[in-house]
This record gives sequence, structure tokens and C-alpha cells, in this order.
Amino acid sequence: MQRIAILGSTGSIGCSALSVAASHPDRVEVVGLAAGANVARFADQVERHRPRVIAMAADDALVSVQSRLSVSCAGSVEQSRAGPDGLLAVATHPDVDLVLCATTGTTALDAVFAAIEAGKTIALANKEVLVMAGGLVMEAARRCGVSILPVDSEHNAIHQCLHGRSSDEVKRLILTASGGPFRDWTPGQLARATPADALRHPTWRMGRKITVDSATLMNKGLEVIEARWLFGVPADRIDVVVHPQSVVHSLVELRDGSQIAQLGVTDMRLPIQYAFSYPDRWDTDLPSLDLAACGRLEFGRPDTDRFPCLALAYRALRGGAALPVALNAANEVAVEAFLDEAVPFSAIPVVISAALDAAAAETSALDTPTLADVRRVDARARALSRSLVAELQSQR
Ligand code: MG
Repeated sequence: MQRIAILGSTGSIGCSALSVAASHPDRVEVVGLAAGANVARFADQVERHRPRVIAMAADDALVSVQSRLSVSCAGSVEQSRAGPDGLLAVATHPDVDLVLCATTGTTALDAVFAAIEAGKTIALANKEVLVMAGGLVMEAARRCGVSILPVDSEHNAIHQCLHGRSSDEVKRLILTASGGPFRDWTPGQLARATPADALRHPTWRMGRKITVDSATLMNKGLEVIEARWLFGVPADRIDVVVHPQSVVHSLVELRDGSQIAQLGVTDMRLPIQYAFSYPDRWDTDLPSLDLAACGRLEFGRPDTDRFPCLALAYRALRGGAALPVALNAANEVAVEAFLDEAVPFSAIPVVISAALDAAAAETSALDTPTLADVRRVDARARALSRSLVAELQSQR
């Protein structure tokens, strides 16, 4: 029996994970659930899955959830807490074997470290944790003998392709990118792109922030950084290829030139189930991938002139130390401002680039950042990005 806790259960990954749990009641037990503010959905999940420990971001949301639970369900919840303490309680509950981290942004950073220290296997669906603190997370996992299993579809694919291979067999990692909704847009069209345009992703159904990241290709940039930490491969051995059909989820090239790919339907339940079942495989109710029905599969190079965010991510990774932290912080601020229609689509890389310049000037001596360094760089990059957004907004 795999006893799991989910951080971020009401988001798109969290819901898919609970659907996997519901398909395998004899194999998966939901011990803990944590969510942000979606009271109705969370109450429904708690009622259905009967976790022993629950948490929400704020007290009033938690009280609303409790008032909606049936008497028998409320009796089965042993612990309920709000705020960061709640997240920690869910992540470190003694009955939990595996923690699925599916929160957005950086809210779960402390909870992930606490779960690693408590010896839990980590299924990681959140990119920001590795982008901000990849070195620290992987070092803690190594020290505590804990596995980090990637749920992001590309990294999950690479994990599958690498299965049982030693790292000196690997020449490079190749991440596939759908290219997002603006793959064929001209620079003129991109300048007028609205949040509604950006939120229309061609192949994957995801949250708002990650969908905009797909439109700028920053999602792939963050994934390059994620791959560097997960698999210990440097930036110059990680490539990106645009593959609009999202059928090939990523590839590994071995030293003899052979490339091993993982293919599958575009459904996040597949990588989530892999993380739950690893190293075993379980049956699924999902349809098989029908290659003949897929028809033509296309591959192309990413255009970093139209999509500079991908190049910015490589720059941050090569700049080492704290630059990925600044990249991530500036991106979060810029994407939020774009979604609020405060700045145009083209402002996103402008804000990030300025934040990288500032961080490079401030943190050049920072070789191995501590968590305190990470938080300091993160706060500074956010403050700088916010003032830049305000400046750009006043110019409109
Ligand atoms: Mg991905």
C-alpha cells in the first residue's frame, strides 16, 4: 500500500492524483491533503478520500471546509490546521510514505525540505522548488536517502528512459516542447497577445500560470533547470526540441548516439501513477496511445528570437548560484502582471532580463547559496520586478 499526502490537492495535478488514487483503492491510501482556498472542491475531496490530516492556507477556509463535512467524515479527520504549519503537518505525518508536491510557486519549499528530512519519497510536480533550490533539495535528498520522482511529464519521461542506466552512458537529455499557443505567431501578433490567447494551450490542460509559461517557452526554460538538478546533467547537455503534438514526452541520447524516447497519451494521470507505483507498473483505465491515429509527428528548433524566455533560462543556469532564483521570481511577477492586463506579453522577458542583470551584479560571489540566500535573492528580484512592472504600466 502506498500511503500518500498531496500538497495542492485542488489544482489540476492534485485532482488527477486523486483520480489515480480512486482507480487503485487497493494500492493507494490518501493520508493527507493540503489545499489553498478552494473550499467547495477541498470539502468534496476530504469527504470522498477520508484523509487523516488536512490543511488549508487560511483559517476561515479551513473552518468553512469543516462545516461542510458529514459527521462521519469529520470524525475520521484527526488533524486539521491552517497556514504553513498545516502544510508541514501534512507533509511530515508519520503514516505518509510519499508526498506529492503539486502546489504552485514557492509556498511548499519548507514543507518539501521537512518531508525529505522525515524520510518521505517526494513526487515533485512543482518546478519552482527545484529552480529555486535544486542544489539544496538534491543534497538533502541524497543525505536522507530519499528519492525525488519527477511528475512533470518531460522529466518523468526522462526518468523512464534512464531507468537502470548509469550516468556515464548518457550524452544528452532532449526535452520536447509543444511550442505553446503562439508557436506560429508573428512578432506583431505576439505584441498584441492577450491573456485569453495565452491561456488557450493546444495539447495540455493546466493551471493559468504554467499555461502562460508555455506560451512564452519559460515553462521549457524552467524545465531545463529542473532537469539539470534532477539528473545531474549540465546545461550544455540539455537540449529542447519543439514537438507540437506532445506525443513524444522527451528523450535521452546515449553515448553511442542511440536515442530512447518515452511516448504516451497527454494525460497527467500517467506520470502521477508512475511516481506512485515506481519501481513497479500498474494497469490503467487510460486509452492506449494510437500512433496511427496521431498521424504526422513534427519536430523543430525553438525560436529564441520570438521566445527569448528560453534563452534567459539557459543564461540563468549558466550564470549559476542565484540567477535561477531571480529568473523564477521575476517570471512569477511578470506573468501575474500580464494576466492582470497590467503589462503586454512582450514585457515578460523584459522584466526577467532586468532582474537577471541586477541579480548577476549583486550575487556574483555566491557559489553555494543557502536557503536564506535563496529567500533574499527571491525577495529582491520580486521587489525589482514589481517596480519595473509599475514603471511599464505607467508608460502604457
Ligand atoms: Mg512539463
